[in-house]
Amino acid sequence: MDRYIRKIRQAMPGGDIWIKESTYAQAEGLRAIYATAAEKECLIVDGCKAFLFEGEAVDGIKICPLNHANRLALNREIRYTRPQAIGAATASFGCGDRLGLANEGQLAAVRKTKAKPVLAQQSLRELDLTGRSYDDVIDAASWAVFKAGYREGYGADGDHLKTKREVEAALEHGCSMITLDCSGVLREPPAQAAALSRAYEQIPAKKRLPLEKEYMNEAQAASIGVTYTRQTWMEVLVTYLDAVELAEDIYIELIRSRGRRIDYEISLDETAHTTSAEAHYFVARELKKRHVRISSIAPKFVGEFQKGIDYIGDTEGFRHNLRIHCTVAACFGHKVSIHSGSDKFKVFPVIADETKGLFHVKTSGTSWLEAVRVIAGNAPELYRRMHRKALEHLDEARSYYKVACDVSAVRPLDMAADDELSAYLEQNHSRQLMHITYGILLKDTEMHDEIFEFLKKNEKIYGLQVKQHIEKHLTSLGCL
Ligand SMILES: [Zn+2]
Repeated sequence: MDRYIRKIRQAMPGGDIWIKESTYAQAEGLRAIYATAAEKECLIVDGCKAFLFEGEAVDGIKICPLNHANRLALNREIRYTRPQAIGAATASFGCGDRLGLANEGQLAAVRKTKAKPVLAQQSLRELDLTGRSYDDVIDAASWAVFKAGYREGYGADGDHLKTKREVEAALEHGCSMITLDCSGVLREPPAQAAALSRAYEQIPAKKRLPLEKEYMNEAQAASIGVTYTRQTWMEVLVTYLDAVELAEDIYIELIRSRGRRIDYEISLDETAHTTSAEAHYFVARELKKRHVRISSIAPKFVGEFQKGIDYIGDTEGFRHNLRIHCTVAACFGHKVSIHSGSDKFKVFPVIADETKGLFHVKTSGTSWLEAVRVIAGNAPELYRRMHRKALEHLDEARSYYKVACDVSAVRPLDMAADDELSAYLEQNHSRQLMHITYGILLKDTEMHDEIFEFLKKNEKIYGLQVKQHIEKHLTSLGCL
């Protein structure tokens, strides 16, 4: 190690050198070490494969920046740094990171559990609102994993994708998980009987009749308490057939042919309708029949999973609802996925119980809110400007996210002293206000730079805060 320190000092004079030995990684023809020198982070490589990395050669070693090209090289050579499928037999926890600064804290929490982290998890909406790309998001996750010396594998989720083009782009950029959002093809079943029959009969008979025969006499479904009446069957087919066909097409065309394992999640949650057990069973059985391998299904549950606040609804009702979804999932061997899982402390113990610890839970906004909390507690002037801007643009943000947020219930900013600003992160309406306006705040270039500058300067505090908050989630989920 002394040899390295001497060489780094030569290349980067004037500063402390800190080499994190736990991140030392070795592959054939390559040694890679994470170091900070003169307060700059770098990757040090040597060995005959060092030429694959961009950087400055000094006396037989190479000092490289943590950039995109080097991340790709590192991914190729050191397997655990690249996203990989987690599978249906292991619990997983999705940690969206809108800033690219939270992954280390998130990983520090999840690595203490048996669950695997999905460290890169962004929907196109989030990428657009934050001005980031899949490359940026996976860069951040890969470096976090390398720096932490975490070798157990992590996932990258192309979240809430709706079209072939979107799925293809996510896979090209290295995502190991695809969440297909079926909301664009989920049909609303007509409430009136005659209209429902008409919609049902519009489905071509050669598809409809064999399926009708299969499902109206489905013994396995009946054995787990899922039964189709004429009406529920018609509703299920009208609503979900297109979604099944889309999921199948995408799988055959883009996923199966990829030659690597991909976690494929089918999301049915972005709709006004609660997903019934009959619907879940139909989608899962059809996909299995069509040889589509999925890792999880995200139903829409009873009650409300609003962004950044606790579950709204009857916890026992949710338990009952989740139980039947778990029974269906166990029947086909996939996990139940729970979206908008940030801060759902009331139902985490229920999720732990009913899934017997085998779940996928997605969080995202809560790590952003922890950033806002650090700002509120330490940079009051910046927080006040963010808060004011959020209020001004709330209506615009509401077009992306459906939340209850009532601003008249938010304490006027002028009345809050500096040391009371953190309290805004404790109250549901102000939490949602700051949660859904992240895109607007980050699109303001000046504010964006100030937020990043502040958080980078306070990286340790932010990392610790995120770690503790995610730990709270995992403890409540029975993982810690
Ligand atoms: Zn969702």
